[in-house]
Amino acid sequence: MRIAQFTFNPFSENTYVIADDNGQAIIIDPGMTDAGEDSILFEYIAEQQMQPKLILNTHCHLDHILGNSAVAERYSIELWCHERELPVIERAASTSLMFGIPYRPSVMPARTIDEGETIVIGDIQLSTLFVPGHAPGHLAFVCAEERVVFSGDVLFQGSVGRVDLPGCNASDLVESIQQKMYKLPDDYVVYSGHGPETTIGAEKENNYFVRPDWSGL
Ligand SMILES: [Zn+2]
Ligand SMILES: [Zn+2]
Repeated sequence: MRIAQFTFNPFSENTYVIADDNGQAIIIDPGMTDAGEDSILFEYIAEQQMQPKLILNTHCHLDHILGNSAVAERYSIELWCHERELPVIERAASTSLMFGIPYRPSVMPARTIDEGETIVIGDIQLSTLFVPGHAPGHLAFVCAEERVVFSGDVLFQGSVGRVDLPGCNASDLVESIQQKMYKLPDDYVVYSGHGPETTIGAEKENNYFVRPDWSGL
């Protein structure tokens, strides 16, 4: 599996394109905010001769959905996310006013996904973990074959997702990390919604926001 990471928009959000050997691709959290950022992504996909088949949102905060419509239109593909993110998408226009950044309305999901579902595109198989706390319907996407997890804004290198926004819940976030993320094998590479990649083992060891045995945030 090929994994490409792009960093877009004023929030420095990570957008991922993952593709199998035949170029069948999934775009996770397209965060492009204008035509310039769109063309960076589209040119890469064309150069690599990839065929995007699906958009996945780990969660639907503004910075993760700004490019949804551009990608959906360009490749005529669907967006899937968790049902509990629907109100988050609906709030995104007012959130953008609050942050003073231009809003690009997202397409709505063609279907919703639940924990335990396996998403199959070409040779890519992703399982889903329900990891609420930073957002009410936050999902992490796990590729066991590649030993990687796309963690969105749940877990970062040395940090965790903020819990001071509407729909956040600090104790849910702690539980999501301890009971879901930290149950993954230590060598799994974590591709986060912001910042550099890390591993489950490195975060268990070094992340002072949520320790494996700790109960508060
Ligand atoms: Zn977020
Ligand atoms: Zn984010």
